[in-house]
Amino acid sequence: MAEEGLLIEAVMADSLAAELEIEAGDRLLMINGCVVRDIIDYNFYTSDDELLFLIKKGDGDLWEIEFDRPDEGIGISFAPPVPASCGNKCIFCFVHQMPRGLRKPLYVKDEDFRLSFLYGNYVTLSNISPEELERIKEQRLSPLYISVHATDNALRERLLGRQKLVPVLETIRQLADCGIVMHTQIVLCPGINDGAALAKTVHDLASFYPLVASLAIVPLGLTRHRKGLEALAPVTETYAARFVDEWLPQQFVLEERLKGDFLFLADEFFLKGRRPFPNIASYGDFPQLENGVGMIPLFLAGSAATLASAEPLSLPPVTVVTGLSPYPFILDFVEKLAAKTSASITLVPISNSFFGDEVTVTGLVTGIDIVEGLKGVAPGSLLLIPDVMLKEGEGLFLDEMNLAGIAAALLCEAHVFEASPEGFYRKLVDLGECSSSLS
Ligand code: SF4
Repeated sequence: MAEEGLLIEAVMADSLAAELEIEAGDRLLMINGCVVRDIIDYNFYTSDDELLFLIKKGDGDLWEIEFDRPDEGIGISFAPPVPASCGNKCIFCFVHQMPRGLRKPLYVKDEDFRLSFLYGNYVTLSNISPEELERIKEQRLSPLYISVHATDNALRERLLGRQKLVPVLETIRQLADCGIVMHTQIVLCPGINDGAALAKTVHDLASFYPLVASLAIVPLGLTRHRKGLEALAPVTETYAARFVDEWLPQQFVLEERLKGDFLFLADEFFLKGRRPFPNIASYGDFPQLENGVGMIPLFLAGSAATLASAEPLSLPPVTVVTGLSPYPFILDFVEKLAAKTSASITLVPISNSFFGDEVTVTGLVTGIDIVEGLKGVAPGSLLLIPDVMLKEGEGLFLDEMNLAGIAAALLCEAHVFEASPEGFYRKLVDLGECSSSLS
């Protein structure tokens, strides 16, 4: 059974919490008489000026602590909520297409509106209870990120592998009525939720603009481990080109009609279909960047600024890796940066044999693929790896290799950089300073 209250993970030195003798390991049970279930409750209830904490100490003692909320914060932090898992069996689910034998957390299928609010995780809201919906409204958990996929209920049930779903438009209507802002997405499965079904979904969601603030269409991802699952058509080069030709004009029509940026196509459609990206201004304030929408246009814009300010560097030869699909764009930048800085930089596109040829994005490149891909390519003494290849906070690739494993396998020094033109240049500058201080 889950322990009651919210576990305090850390207490900042010199904070009010430390002064009040609150300690890591204590459990916060109530604030002003309200049960604290998670960090959202904590943030919600600590907005009052006068606070009464009920805390369970490590030895089981109960403490009541009364204080006025300080402007500088109370000074306690909590572990992120353990996500609830989804009961869906989406036909395109990436988790179902992972190879066996990886760490358990990689197979977790989370679906938790709290993580949607806190971290922008997409949720289907397919198993949300009336109480949870009420909580979203009461605590104004906005914005939320909702995977819609289709607004036709029968089609959505097919896509989510569920029956008797509450129609998603009903849920969206309820949230919109309370002023909750929503960002939405459609994972596009060719021949299933495209064509007329897609037109209906886009139209239905646009009718809630600006509360449904954005809609991203992203292509499904298929790996080579897709066994015993429904056969799905991939997004091919021809499909992607036709899709952009049909839907980019629709994006502009909607922009004109709604007087705002609403519909966005994932970068992958442009890369796969070899179609030029729209003007960067059409991405608005990039509400779907984390969803792979606008990353390349933003990279191109950042490249120009970085190149303009780059200066000559002195450092050993550098090898940098990327996924296959963005390679041409990054190559152009790297070649110009090498010319401007007089640095020797080799960009190597890495094929994804771990997940299969269909997977070409940088974020899903694995450690073993880097080791394979750099065999026969002299990595020089410095190997640079974009941070998007590593799981945030864990320093591990999706296949569980770490940086040290790569460095040992390739007999080189491996470094991570923030995956942006500025981040890459900054790392080169740092490495240049390090190598000149050692020489
Ligand atoms: S909601 Fe669908 S895609 Fe997401 S984890 Fe669950 S089954 Fe997979």
